[in-house]
Amino acid sequence: MGRLFGTDGVRGVVNRELTIDFVVRLAYAIGTFFGEGSRILVGRDVRIGGEVFMKAVEAGLVSAGCKVYEADLITTPGLQYNVGYKGFDGGVMVTASHNPPEYNGIKVIASDGIEIPREAEEEIESIFFEQRFRPGNITLLTSSVERAPGVIDDYVKAIVGLVDRERIKARKLKVLVDPANSVGALTTTRVVRELGGKVYTINGHLDPFFPGRHPEPTVESLRETALVAKALGVDFAVGHDADGDRAIIIDDLGRIHWGDRSATILVEHLVGKHPELPRRVYTAVSSSILVEEYLRKHGVEVVWTKVGSPIIAREVVRGGGLAGFEENGGFMYPKLLPVRDGAMKTALIMELLAYENTRLSEIFDRLPKYYPVKTKVPMPREKALQVVEKVKEIYSSNRMVTIDGVKVFGEDYWFLVRPSGTEPLLRIMVEAKDKSKAEEIANNLVRIAREVASTK
Ligand code: MG
Repeated sequence: MGRLFGTDGVRGVVNRELTIDFVVRLAYAIGTFFGEGSRILVGRDVRIGGEVFMKAVEAGLVSAGCKVYEADLITTPGLQYNVGYKGFDGGVMVTASHNPPEYNGIKVIASDGIEIPREAEEEIESIFFEQRFRPGNITLLTSSVERAPGVIDDYVKAIVGLVDRERIKARKLKVLVDPANSVGALTTTRVVRELGGKVYTINGHLDPFFPGRHPEPTVESLRETALVAKALGVDFAVGHDADGDRAIIIDDLGRIHWGDRSATILVEHLVGKHPELPRRVYTAVSSSILVEEYLRKHGVEVVWTKVGSPIIAREVVRGGGLAGFEENGGFMYPKLLPVRDGAMKTALIMELLAYENTRLSEIFDRLPKYYPVKTKVPMPREKALQVVEKVKEIYSSNRMVTIDGVKVFGEDYWFLVRPSGTEPLLRIMVEAKDKSKAEEIANNLVRIAREVASTK
């Protein structure tokens, strides 16, 4: 059977894979899955076609007899908050997250506010491909779409209520927000202001063409934002992706820090503030071992998971703990919801600064230094899996995690070798305390990969 959902929702190029009729039918399948009479909250980010795709989603859901509530423009975590806390049976977000501007897509949210698990995606796929759509009672077609009031107000209030507002206000922080011309402009700016911060924005107007930068926050796309942050002398800057669930943090010196680094200093802060919570965090194998090395001294257990935010979220729910996070900037604070939330993360960074009373750059400088090397070798998935086996054999005396490819821990280095989930590629990530050592290990792994790939 065909597959529609990738690692996080359905995505496609607008009017090529993602056409209006496809979206109506997909939403009809989603509506059939949730069932007649279900109350579903629907929202969208700024992306091209977002408004008509949202209407197409509503049409499909209503056909299946769902009662639709429209949130319209909102971040994915904002929608998730409203679904999880207001008794909805589910949610649908029209977004392609961090993909290039020509993409749009659909994320489906369960009643607890978290992305639906893979089994539910399979059920929707089977309804779609076998055309097992179930039309709703025609009486449900009248007044079946209603505007959902206060969705952003309530969400912002919830975030502000989870941090030490007075203490943060007293610190009078200056924050540069870069929402990538999308919906983070509606939420994170509000959160900063309500916490007494001075808000600056860059790429702050809503524009589906993303004129300011690529929707994915990376070292390359945030270069200008970092320069502006430094020039303005802000306490920190935050760069979101298009649906506002990721937050990459830039410090007062204009240095861009990956999500595993910012999450580590946040966890250190949360351990002190919430001694009642279990000292456990969840992150994908693609995060640096600096997380473990640094948090060990606080007695925090690091649980390594497969790559993919819905997987981390479900693990957090199952095992409980302080947080879940990804190196791409996703940070999950289960006191709000165990989902990635860029605005919540921003509020927590503000709280960290208010408690520490020092500059963010100094806090980041406490972390161990590692030199990263990332590379990839094109090959079919079967070959990539053979490489993983070979690497396991060669490094069998090292500590390793094998839930997603193989992550090997060394004395002053670590690396991850895994087949890409979406492309015919082997991905190699290496970090070592010494730059030449990182390069040497990466070269060696590439050589092993090529050798395995060239054998029959
Ligand atoms: Mg996203």
